[in-house]
Amino acid sequence: MKTRRDFLKTAAVAGAGLAFTGVKADTKHTLPNKINKPIVLSTWRFGIEANVAAWEVLSQNGRALDAVEAGVKIPEGDPKERSVGYGGRPDRDGRVTLDACIMDELANIGSVACLEHIKHPISVARAVMEKTPHVMLVGEGALDFALTQGFKKENLLVPDSEKEWKEWLKKSEYSPKANIENHDTIGMIAMDVNGNLSGACTTSGMAFKMHGRVGDSPIIGAGLYVDNEIGAATATGHGEEVIRIAGAHLVVELMRQGKSPQQACEEAVQRIIKLTKLRNKNLIDIQVGFIALNKAGEYGSYCIQGGFNYAVYDATGNRLIDAPFYLK
Ligand code: ASP
Repeated sequence: MKTRRDFLKTAAVAGAGLAFTGVKADTKHTLPNKINKPIVLSTWRFGIEANVAAWEVLSQNGRALDAVEAGVKIPEGDPKERSVGYGGRPDRDGRVTLDACIMDELANIGSVACLEHIKHPISVARAVMEKTPHVMLVGEGALDFALTQGFKKENLLVPDSEKEWKEWLKKSEYSPKANIENHDTIGMIAMDVNGNLSGACTTSGMAFKMHGRVGDSPIIGAGLYVDNEIGAATATGHGEEVIRIAGAHLVVELMRQGKSPQQACEEAVQRIIKLTKLRNKNLIDIQVGFIALNKAGEYGSYCIQGGFNYAVYDATGNRLIDAPFYLK
């Protein structure tokens, strides 16, 4: 039987190994005197408008959690946005199915997947977090729960999305697309004036996907992760690839090891690239982008292919930044 003493010996050896490989065994992080807060980051150009709604909350000393929910509700409620919430493209059966998750500074989490007929899946995810003993509800169960919470059942398939779907049906070629038209999931991460972090992620997923397909966006650790000691990260792009590496969690863990948000995003993308090559898949068919924020209010982003951008709002204003990318 292993004694406590043996255990301590093994731990000491493991610690020495970490030091040898350059990975810090000590997870204490010293913060600069001046922390860049409040701050909010979100994916894609619709992040600019979403950030404005989040900033309303943050600039009035509100909670990061309230800010990210308010922020992502902007594209969710916009029928012109074809990749999030109301107006999102349907699956190949013509059904709009939505995925979303939310996480706060205390690691409270809530998520819904394959939810139909509800315009604001992020608020249902928050209700799962706050009003149930569970963390994830899917499909009909998620809808039933939403209705008990007073959410309204609506038709989310707008005429333009229906037209696109009918056009797609003519060939019915099954190749779900991400990042081709520069609008996808909104992932948002924020730090409030108290230095607390939260995040939200919401999407209609891949256009014309198989019914029941769920991507990374509602999966805590894949599409979104928040650790209030370290930082937060969120993802967009091919959910299958993000899930494969537990993407957002990986980015946060890399920051814990001492990487900057930029370095952490780059290393996570490199992991996907390596696995894609190993599996003999074509990198050109894949897009994944990460954004990350640490407790100092520093941020970064990286993606596989050019075209991904993200919006940052802090004391210096709200701006759209082109993410650096791998495939030149
Ligand atoms: N990540 C989302 C998904 O896989 C879609 C996207 O961001 O393009 O469902």
